[in-house]
Amino acid sequence: MMIISACLVGFNTRYDGKNSFHVVFEDLVKRGKAIPFCPEQAGGLPTPRMPSEIIGEGGHEVIEGKAKVLTRDGKDVTENFLKGAREALKLATLIGADTAILKSKSPSCGCKYIYDGRFCGALKKGMGVTAAYLKSHGIKVIDSDEYLNEFC
Ligand code: SF4
Repeated sequence: MMIISACLVGFNTRYDGKNSFHVVFEDLVKRGKAIPFCPEQAGGLPTPRMPSEIIGEGGHEVIEGKAKVLTRDGKDVTENFLKGAREALKLATLIGADTAILKSKSPSCGCKYIYDGRFCGALKKGMGVTAAYLKSHGIKVIDSDEYLNEFC
């Protein structure tokens, strides 16, 4: 069993109130292979919401208290991101998920690259907070773009 970023299967959970739907991901849910989840909503953030980026290194450093997550207008939402990560692990544990397919580049869900903290669209290597948290608890995390490249 897997969990999957909710925006990938059509839920309008993104910061801009839109989604990142792809039929390949929807099919995983339809076939009972994956359960959708949005850590930013579960962490108590509204939709739509101000975009956020990790300031500092990446998700692992946020978990260790060495980096923060700020909105574009400077509000500290680190605790919301940590709460969302904990809730994601709770769901993974509940359904016995050993894998998570997570949306590329997101400060929560990114597995390979995330935005670099300057809010200019530039990327850096690193993981989002939920991706890092799940990985540190033994869940295999798969970047959504990589999944599409491999299976489409
Ligand atoms: S937090 Fe993850 S699931 Fe939620 S909208 Fe962002 S990328 Fe999608």
